[in-house]
Amino acid sequence: MIKENLQALLSQLPSNIQLVAVSKFHPLENILEAYDAGQRIFAESRPQELAEKVSQLDGAKYPGLEWHFIGHLQTNKLKMVLPYVSLVQSVDSIHLLKEIQKWGAANDRIVNVLLEVHIGAEETKQGFHEEEVVDLLFDSDKYPNIRFCGLMAMASHTIDESVIDADFERIDTFMAYLVDLFPELTDFNQLSIGMSDDWKIAIHHGATIIRIGTAIFGSR
Ligand SMILES: *Cc1c(COP(=O)(O)O)cnc(C)c1O
Repeated sequence: MIKENLQALLSQLPSNIQLVAVSKFHPLENILEAYDAGQRIFAESRPQELAEKVSQLDGAKYPGLEWHFIGHLQTNKLKMVLPYVSLVQSVDSIHLLKEIQKWGAANDRIVNVLLEVHIGAEETKQGFHEEEVVDLLFDSDKYPNIRFCGLMAMASHTIDESVIDADFERIDTFMAYLVDLFPELTDFNQLSIGMSDDWKIAIHHGATIIRIGTAIFGSR
């Protein structure tokens, strides 16, 4: 099923959009099944689970396999995540950014990040407000060990597609504004929006990365 699900998705996806397979709560064997079907980028949302899966894998045997982190990251868990991921999609506070910078400096690494922006209607949802993103990008040279690669966002939790459409329209517009405002940030070009239920809407609004769990691996 995983292979068929992947093929069905890829056949509908423009080739310039990166498909990230969200493997949280699914066992390693399912990840390897997706790998065998050609999928290379996987994402996890919990540090412990990521670290366990990484340790079960022998990296050398799976060329090209990459991990992204997409969950809330507490600063005391950086060591479980940063050595293993090619992109942290879910940076949601200045505090976290500063700690990632420290880790990068101490380990002589440049860490690729997306800034998670709060666009949905939910009060509690994590992420920066738009003004905060602008302010921090004006300060981007304070973070020499961080590469700012773009934005990540989640739409409101609703089945009303017009609301989701408006959310994604807004983040797409904001992304374009930032690209204009910060031409010196040459890597700032990724927009990670779209999950199993709303990725088709997301690709109408400039998604460059979609994060798909259920539609590949089934329900969690
Ligand atoms: C779980 C999760 C996804 C995938 O959700 P599906 O609806 O299963 O595709 C995408 N993004 C984030 C941040 C997630 O936590």
